[in-house]
Amino acid sequence: SKTKENKYNIAVIPGDGIGREVMEATISVLDALNLDFDYVYGEAGDECLEKTGTALPEETIEIVRAADACLFGAAGETAADVIVKLRQEMKMFANLRPVKAYPNTNSIRDDIDFMIVRENTEGLYIADQEKLTDEGAVAKRIITREAESRIIDYAFKYAEENGKSKVTGVHKANVLKKSDGLFREIFYEVGQNYPDIEKEDFYVDATAMYLITQPQNFEVIVTTNLFGDILSDEGAGLVGGLGLIPSANIGNDGALFEPVHGSAPDIAGKGIANPIAMMLSAVMMLRYLGEVDAADKVDNAILKLLTDAKVLTGDLGGKATTKEVTEEIISLL
Ligand code: ATP
Ligand code: MG
Repeated sequence: SKTKENKYNIAVIPGDGIGREVMEATISVLDALNLDFDYVYGEAGDECLEKTGTALPEETIEIVRAADACLFGAAGETAADVIVKLRQEMKMFANLRPVKAYPNTNSIRDDIDFMIVRENTEGLYIADQEKLTDEGAVAKRIITREAESRIIDYAFKYAEENGKSKVTGVHKANVLKKSDGLFREIFYEVGQNYPDIEKEDFYVDATAMYLITQPQNFEVIVTTNLFGDILSDEGAGLVGGLGLIPSANIGNDGALFEPVHGSAPDIAGKGIANPIAMMLSAVMMLRYLGEVDAADKVDNAILKLLTDAKVLTGDLGGKATTKEVTEEIISLL
């Protein structure tokens, strides 16, 4: 936790493959901002499993627990275990995925800019599945007032604090009358506390279409676990390119920021990974910590880099290395 005013303790977990490369690049950008941050490095992932016998050592969990925020690179095969365990340990109930169009990328429109806020503790993913017979299985989908009002309130607060004027609640209340009926009810109940924010709700199937036909009309989407999982990847598809998409996991006692991409073994070790998704994850962290000026600086440097389109990595059609992109961003700060 905070040791003195404006001094933050940041847990850094580079992990595997390009996770290490994009983390190094991102830390050098943060260093260039002269922030008073303490970095504490922790190990996790495939290599850690090989070396220590566990993909997520207790020591690493302690480092994350003690930190104000955590930057996470990528873990290979062990990714799901590592992140799921960290989410549970830190009770990170919200998963945030920004969907934002940047110039000179594969975005379907240039005016897309919204946030998907996904409930991350219940829904279809919480309960153990049950195999009834060889011929059938059942999975329960759990919706509680406690968890859904927490995520909906988070989404409205996010809108308020980030200059967004509308929140869209996404559900399937026409078919899932009891569970998603409750979600919709809570959405409007909680929404009453935010009179200045416009509210609308859509069925998830319609939303899947609207994301393609009118993505520019969304500002903040809040939804349950599975729907959020699916719509987040649809959102990634709208703006094209794994190398650009950050994410955040937020809890009351901590938050973890990571790129959506994985360890990319096919390009690992070559020094050609695009570091922007990791850097934008750090931008989300800076905003979370209230370091708005620093966040804007990095954000604007990345926007300028993409607008100029002179120093880009291979995934964006350029020839630059991770290091060259990083140096260019630092010079644009
Ligand atoms: P993992 O098992 O760790 O998820 P993966 O093989 O699924 O690894 P991803 O990291 O998910 O790989 O990436 C999928 C594809 O996108 C790979 O071909 C990879 O090279 C490419 N890619 C992902 N991230 C980046 C990046 N930051 N820069 C350039 N290319 C990337
Ligand atoms: Mg992957």
